[in-house]
This record gives sequence, structure tokens and C-alpha cells, in this order.
Amino acid sequence: MEKSLQIYNTLSRKKECFKPLHPPMVGMYVCGPTVYGDSHLGHARPAINFDVVFRYLKYLGYKVRYVRNITDVGHLEEDRDYGEDKVSKKARLEKLEPMEIVQRYTNEYRLKMMQLNVLPPSIEPTASGHIIEQQDLVEKILEKGYAYEKGGSVYFDVEKYNESHNYGKLSGRKIEDLLSNTRELEKQEDKKSPLDFAIWKNADPGHLMKWPSRWGDGFPGWHVECSVMSSRYLGQEFDIHGGGLDLLFPHHECEIAQTVAGYGKESVRYWMHNNMITLNGQKMGKSLGNAINLDQFFSGEHKLLERGYSPMTIRFFILQAHYRSTLDFTNEALLSAEKGLERLLEGMANLDKIIPSGETEKSTRDIAEIEKAFFAAMNDDFNTPIAIARLFDGIKTINSVLAGKISFTSADLENWKTFFRLAVNDVLGLSAREKKGGDNTLMENLVKLLLQMRIDARKNKDFELADRIRDEMTRLGIEVMDTKDGFEWKLIK
Ligand code: ZN
Repeated sequence: MEKSLQIYNTLSRKKECFKPLHPPMVGMYVCGPTVYGDSHLGHARPAINFDVVFRYLKYLGYKVRYVRNITDVGHLEEDRDYGEDKVSKKARLEKLEPMEIVQRYTNEYRLKMMQLNVLPPSIEPTASGHIIEQQDLVEKILEKGYAYEKGGSVYFDVEKYNESHNYGKLSGRKIEDLLSNTRELEKQEDKKSPLDFAIWKNADPGHLMKWPSRWGDGFPGWHVECSVMSSRYLGQEFDIHGGGLDLLFPHHECEIAQTVAGYGKESVRYWMHNNMITLNGQKMGKSLGNAINLDQFFSGEHKLLERGYSPMTIRFFILQAHYRSTLDFTNEALLSAEKGLERLLEGMANLDKIIPSGETEKSTRDIAEIEKAFFAAMNDDFNTPIAIARLFDGIKTINSVLAGKISFTSADLENWKTFFRLAVNDVLGLSAREKKGGDNTLMENLVKLLLQMRIDARKNKDFELADRIRDEMTRLGIEVMDTKDGFEWKLIK
């Protein structure tokens, strides 16, 4: 397969041909969640969009080191430089140790990602695990003269940096506009300019998560962790940095400034941003009363939802939009995504029902054309909606074969099966196994495990054990049917 992948680079504002710095290695860093509450749609979109990037790069033959961080310290309310730490606040409200909050919601996030069939990243570093490295970067920025210390905190000097560099180059913002739009806020008296941001924060005596430093007890500013952990695991320069568009400013803009100020040069080759999600045309937020978490989406237990939608439906719906487009969640749109996904997966399953025509016949329906169109769409900045549309073209052909209008040779059939498995299961990460409700993933895996053990028992001629597994499963309400390549199962009733 020709490697002609085009990626839209937020920094250059155009599509560029993807050329990794050190092929076949590709380094990719994506900003992960701040773990202080249940995972919601806002978490699902970047995770799924970048999961497809990860999967596709691997399909192209690259060895991808995918780093997705966990923010467990330093992210203050409303992304500000003052106020309470989001994790600490939750710990205080629930009377728990902050690290219990971190563990609980990290586990919760990982479980939700598994349900959405998002592959785990290669490395999942935490901010609290990299305090020394963050202090090092703060020290470097101070040494270079792009930061100043005041009252135990260290602030990045944006205007000083902008004299010799371009603060705002990623987001396209101009420092003069930023200045005229920024109100002088309370509690900012330590800062020289309202644009300056904390890279180390002095901790009040009651602050829960703090570390000793030469500036006093404190904690790192939120943006610092990503500069540090990306270079720690991917090197001073790496290929892709991704995240949601909401992180473009100030988070990523500040990241560039810190990295350049501290390490002397920019680190990221391609900046990628997924667009935002709206719900019934509205921005989502707790204050708007429309923040639906993923569990509620899966179960339907929310006043704005007519019913629940499976994790695979959510995944399919997200992939039906290009990652740079906005995406509006409505009940109607989700229902139609559910139908679309069913049609795709059923069409694909129909391949197993097709009996090929004679071996000597010439190929009538070559998969090559659909394959080419699918990969052309994926190569065009991961255009999943077009790629999915090309798969539906293929489903039409499959259904015509099934209806006996045209035929496949056995070679055709094998090629179609191979391509659909690759495109649907491997690249897009869509699978038929998942059931509605979303809470069945664990049970399905356990049932599969038991049935696999039963197959092993039969191979070892331990028919007594094999029968016992089947009988016990029947007793528990699971019907097991043997098929020629293994088994099928379903819940009785
Ligand atoms: Zn980040």
C-alpha cells in the first residue's frame, strides 16, 4: 500500500503529506482526561478519533508509540491559575484521599474506553508521577529568562517570550487582541501581565496535593505536564500531538511556548485537533443541565435521552463525522446511526452466508475498487465518513450476491472477507460482538473464555468437562450452539 497519508496540520493550517521523523517509528501524544468525574461524550470523541489515527498508522506499517496522559494534579477549576484543583475539590466533597479519586476515575475511564473499543495507549503517564521533570522544565525556563518567581509561584512571561517568538501561532491569536480582551482579574496581582500563566503554583497550607520545591511547597501548572511527558517519552521532537479543539488555547499554545522557552525548539511536527460535540445543538456543560455521561448514554437513564445506545453505536456515530467537523448528538441522529451500524455489520455477516460460484469462473466483482476508495478516504486526513460510505457501496454488492443477482468466486469471497475485517474491525474498530446496553462486555468475554475452555476440553477428549461446561451454562440461561468453526451463544428468553 502506497503511503500517501495527508494530515491537516493545525499549525500550518493546511493538509500536509505525512512524513515521520524517524520511520518506521511514529511518536504520538494526545492530551488525556483530567480524572475527577465520570467519563462523558467529551472524552469519547478525542479517544475514538485518535484511536482510529493510531490504528490506521499501525495498518500503514508504522511502529506507533502512543502516549496519552492522565491529568491528576494541577488542573484548576475553569482552567484558571487560581481556585481549587479539580481533583482536590472532588476529594474534599467525597471525603476521600485525592489519589483515591484519581484511581477511581482512571479505572472508570479505562473501562469506558474498553467498551468503546478504544485501544489502550502504549504509555499512559500521570502528571503526579513526573513532578521532578516538571520542576526541571520550570527551572530551565527561569534560567533562560522567560519566567519570573513571585510569592512562591513561577509565572511564564508571555510578553517577554513574544518579543523573540510568536505566542499565538497555533491558535492564530494576536497578543494585542488577547491583551485588550483580558480583564484584570482578582488574585492575579502577582502576575506582571494578565496573559502570563503559572508554571509552578505556590500551595496554600490547606492544599492537598503539593510537593517541596526550591520555590516552596507547590504544584505544577496544568500546561507543564504535557510539555514534559511528551518529550520524556517521545523525544525532543516527535510526530503528532493531538487533542480536542478546546485545548488549542490556552493549553497547547502555552505548551509550545514552554517547550520552546525551556528546550530551545519546538517539538511537534503535526498538530491535530478534533472538533467539539454539541447536544441538541447546544454546548454541553454541567451548568446547562445537559452533561450526559457515557453510562447514561449506554443505559438511556437521562431525561434528554429517549433510550440507551450501545457503545458501538456511539463509536459509529462519532466516526460518521469527520474529526474536524462539529458533531451534534440528537436522539434521531443516534437512532439512524444505530440502524446504519446494523446494516453495515449485517451486510458484513452476510459474507458468511454466500456460497461462491465455480472456481474456474472469472472474478466478477473485484474488491480492489472499494478497497482503493476506502483507503483514499482514510489517506485524506482520516476521512472516516467517506470511508464508511465506500463500505456501504460494498454492502450493496454483498447483498446483490446474496440475492443471487451476481456471484462471487471463492477467491472474491475470501478477498471481500479479508478486506471487510481489516476495514471495519481493525481500522475503524467496529465490532459486531457488542450488545446493546454496554454492560455486557465483561460477560461476553467471560462466556467466550468458558466456551474456549470447552473447545480445549473437547480437543483433549475430556468430554465430561466439555459437557459440564455446556450444561452449567444452560442452567445459567446461556444457550450454546456448536457451529462448524466454533460456537455461537445467546441468552435464553
Ligand atoms: Zn495536554
